[in-house]
Amino acid sequence: MKKIYYILIVCFIASNFGLNDAYASSLNNENINQAKVQISSFLEKVAKTFLENLKKEYLNSDVKLNEKNESLAGKKILIDPGHGGTNPGAVSYGFREVDNNLAVSLKLKTLLEKQGANVLLTRYEDENIAERGSSLREELQARVDISREYQPDIFVSIHTNSNENPNIQGAMTFYYDEESKKLANSIQTGLINSIKATDKGIAKENFYVLRNSEIPAVLVEMGFITNKNEAEKLNSDNYRDLIAQGISKGISEYFSK
Ligand SMILES: [Zn+2]
Repeated sequence: MKKIYYILIVCFIASNFGLNDAYASSLNNENINQAKVQISSFLEKVAKTFLENLKKEYLNSDVKLNEKNESLAGKKILIDPGHGGTNPGAVSYGFREVDNNLAVSLKLKTLLEKQGANVLLTRYEDENIAERGSSLREELQARVDISREYQPDIFVSIHTNSNENPNIQGAMTFYYDEESKKLANSIQTGLINSIKATDKGIAKENFYVLRNSEIPAVLVEMGFITNKNEAEKLNSDNYRDLIAQGISKGISEYFSK
């Protein structure tokens, strides 16, 4: 829409410029030149703004991400939005981990699919995956079961971190085995480049969903819900977009190697 608006302005000014030129033939040369200088500098400004806006629009858009990505085409990816239903995960400043995890997972799904990947989520709503009344272990096993059934190329669990120290902030990615370490590295790099958060690096962890995975599996902790600044960012649509873009970039880098 913006583009059309600017093109119309340029056309309008250009047509006036022609009229002014004809009318100006009856005026003296000094006036004509003055008018021409004024009009051309105005036109220049309009053109500059037009180009700057085009640039901004391009940089902010998913243009590059919309393109089919060779390294992602046909890849099967399982995304696991951590927690759900009776287990909201970490809760702080009125925000809930479970909401961040699902919102980012859905955005990530859209991005990866636009690039040609096949994506499944372990849950699409705020719900438990295992049967009602199941233990935490059974809830985690239910996610592992989905992975064994779907047989994806990679498994990516999305979480929000917490700490008793409200000053601690930043993003980190966990892995269990060596192949998963490569994926963790790639995702962590993509994520930090995109969100510019404190880089808390990657670390080996014995988490249930990681150690019981037969395929490269990572668990991303996007940020700390116990840090007020980060909690607010994690609740924003724009920051969630940046997280999804960063993780998507990392996944595509992993497959391109
Ligand atoms: Zn969690």
